[in-house]
Amino acid sequence: MSGKSKKSGSNVEPLRPTRPCPECGRPSVREHYPFCSERCRNIDLNRWLSGSYAIPVADDESKADDGDDR
Ligand SMILES: [Zn+2]
Repeated sequence: MSGKSKKSGSNVEPLRPTRPCPECGRPSVREHYPFCSERCRNIDLNRWLSGSYAIPVADDESKADDGDDR
Protein backbone atom coordinates (compact mmCIF):
# COMPACT_ATOMS: atom_id res chain seq x y z
CA MET A 1 0.00 0.00 0.00
CA SER A 2 2.58 2.48 -0.97
CA GLY A 3 1.36 5.66 -2.46
CA LYS A 4 3.49 5.43 -5.53
CA SER A 5 1.77 7.22 -8.29
CA LYS A 6 2.97 6.96 -11.83
CA LYS A 7 4.82 10.03 -12.84
CA SER A 8 4.17 10.86 -16.38
CA GLY A 9 7.08 12.39 -18.15
CA SER A 10 10.61 11.24 -17.48
CA ASN A 11 9.73 7.67 -16.84
CA VAL A 12 11.79 5.85 -19.40
CA GLU A 13 12.03 2.11 -19.15
CA PRO A 14 15.43 0.56 -19.69
CA LEU A 15 15.98 -1.52 -22.78
CA ARG A 16 17.05 -4.47 -20.71
CA PRO A 17 16.19 -5.45 -17.18
CA THR A 18 19.03 -5.04 -14.76
CA ARG A 19 20.78 -8.32 -14.29
CA PRO A 20 22.75 -9.21 -11.21
CA CYS A 21 26.50 -9.33 -11.54
CA PRO A 22 27.58 -12.94 -12.22
CA GLU A 23 30.49 -12.41 -9.88
CA CYS A 24 29.10 -10.83 -6.76
CA GLY A 25 25.39 -10.68 -7.45
CA ARG A 26 25.16 -6.93 -7.34
CA PRO A 27 23.05 -5.08 -9.83
CA SER A 28 25.07 -4.55 -12.95
CA VAL A 29 25.76 -1.17 -14.37
CA ARG A 30 25.40 -0.12 -17.92
CA GLU A 31 29.04 0.84 -18.18
CA HIS A 32 30.32 -2.58 -17.22
CA TYR A 33 27.40 -4.68 -18.33
CA PRO A 34 26.78 -7.37 -17.45
CA PHE A 35 28.99 -6.79 -14.45
CA CYS A 36 28.66 -4.33 -11.64
CA SER A 37 32.15 -2.98 -11.97
CA GLU A 38 35.38 -3.26 -13.90
CA ARG A 39 36.78 -5.30 -11.08
CA CYS A 40 34.25 -8.08 -11.43
CA ARG A 41 34.64 -7.85 -15.14
CA ASN A 42 38.34 -8.57 -14.87
CA ILE A 43 37.76 -11.35 -12.41
CA ASP A 44 35.43 -13.09 -14.77
CA LEU A 45 37.73 -12.45 -17.68
CA ASN A 46 40.72 -13.86 -15.86
CA ARG A 47 38.77 -16.88 -14.78
CA TRP A 48 37.57 -17.47 -18.28
CA LEU A 49 41.04 -17.13 -19.72
CA SER A 50 42.70 -19.33 -17.15
CA GLY A 51 39.94 -21.87 -17.47
CA SER A 52 39.75 -22.08 -21.21
CA TYR A 53 43.21 -21.12 -22.19
CA ALA A 54 46.42 -22.61 -20.91
CA ILE A 55 48.47 -19.53 -20.32
CA PRO A 56 52.15 -20.25 -19.81
CA VAL A 57 52.92 -18.91 -16.40
CA ALA A 58 56.49 -18.70 -15.21
CA ASP A 59 55.22 -18.95 -11.68
CA ASP A 60 53.93 -22.41 -12.33
CA GLU A 61 57.20 -23.79 -13.53
CA SER A 62 57.69 -25.87 -10.43
CA LYS A 63 54.75 -27.92 -11.51
CA ALA A 64 55.84 -30.92 -13.50
CA ASP A 65 53.99 -31.38 -16.73
CA ASP A 66 52.51 -34.65 -17.75
CA GLY A 67 53.94 -34.29 -21.19
CA ASP A 68 50.73 -33.25 -22.79
CA ASP A 69 52.35 -31.12 -25.39
CA ARG A 70 49.72 -31.39 -28.01
ZN1 LIG B 1 30.16 -7.60 -9.25
